[in-house]
Amino acid sequence: MPQTRHRIRRPCRTGAFIGLTALALGVTATASGGVPGRSHTTSGPKATSAESALAPCRISATMGVQLSEGLPTAPGYSRSTGEIRALNLMIDFPDAKGEGSAMDRLAEFFPQTSEWFRTSSYGRLTYRAEAPIRNWLRMPMPFAAYGIERGSAYEPGYRQLVEHIARAADPEVDFSRYDLINILVTPNAGPSALDTVLSVTFSGNAEAPMADGVPLANTSFVYSRQDDGSGSYRETGYRVLPHENGHVFGLPDLYTSDGGGTVGHWDIMSEDWGANNDLLGWHKWKLGWLDGSQISCASKPGASEHLLTPLAVAGGTKLAFVPLSESAGYAIEVRTRAGNDEAVCKPGVLIYRVDSEVDTGRGPVTVSDSASGSGGCTRRPNVHAELSDAPFRPGETFTDDKARISISVVAALPGGGFRVRVTRP
Ligand SMILES: [Zn+2]
Repeated sequence: MPQTRHRIRRPCRTGAFIGLTALALGVTATASGGVPGRSHTTSGPKATSAESALAPCRISATMGVQLSEGLPTAPGYSRSTGEIRALNLMIDFPDAKGEGSAMDRLAEFFPQTSEWFRTSSYGRLTYRAEAPIRNWLRMPMPFAAYGIERGSAYEPGYRQLVEHIARAADPEVDFSRYDLINILVTPNAGPSALDTVLSVTFSGNAEAPMADGVPLANTSFVYSRQDDGSGSYRETGYRVLPHENGHVFGLPDLYTSDGGGTVGHWDIMSEDWGANNDLLGWHKWKLGWLDGSQISCASKPGASEHLLTPLAVAGGTKLAFVPLSESAGYAIEVRTRAGNDEAVCKPGVLIYRVDSEVDTGRGPVTVSDSASGSGGCTRRPNVHAELSDAPFRPGETFTDDKARISISVVAALPGGGFRVRVTRP
């Protein structure tokens, strides 16, 4: 039987400690935003004309949205370029003692997670995973006593758990040396991931418990094992960690209460079970893995043409964007089976709507399906089938009649790229 369970899973409690801080950040972001030519589009007094041309495509973050698709990402999240040091702590409990060695638990996620980020970022993110404590770190209370359950109001339990982790690790760990923290919980604590996924990330949060003078602000917790029984755990089970770390870098959840139906397998923030997948080009721009010179902004009235190279291959123009407003627009990119995109069964031009006013888990991104109702081209487990054949091919056109926008794939180019024509009012 194909595994269709649990695409709807975790309430990734990003910023659950934030409270008033989130609101304050939102106000700041908006206050510096304003109307066209938003101030964040000019990084200094000498903005180049190329940067100015991109300004209408940098849809801005919106006040009150906790994890917004807008640019730039609010302050407080981890850096997403350069060398990132990740502290890994393997923890267990008196009532759920670690089975096997703690280093084996670490090996379920590394080196694959570091390699995934290197590939996806074109080498711009160097992810250094460190585990200065090589044994299970025993918590003082039983797992059940922390009250950690999916969807429950568990902030007090998490705060206590983080304080206990900091206290237990502090003699051997200098927390100030790290950019983010991964808590790899013994898999026998709590329910199976097939029943309920507890994995969660607290990010961008300056109100977090302190250790060594720094707030433990960007922390991912991984529970259980995302093992669907298909025999692929050793290859794909690590993928929950790059998803959780995506929140540490400020990315929202793209799955909704209905599952992966709005983005499918086109982004790891939508589906992190099953075959490997990449991030959307929009997310790569947001994370600083694409330069402004790799974005083609279709903001002027009339027709424009865009030559796009495959997202998985470094260099060239990766993303065309058609802004609809200050908070939304259509993104256009080329997806092929390469790099982290292992399950692509119909290479072509992916078109999706990005809306910075829609919060995490509510559908901030919606992929347009070129073959709606087709059932898709994949039967791989844990890959959303219907949207697997979403990309557009030469001769096909996407239209938004209300906005009077059309996006046509004109021709395939040597090397897997495509020529795309955009028409807009
Ligand atoms: Zn998530």
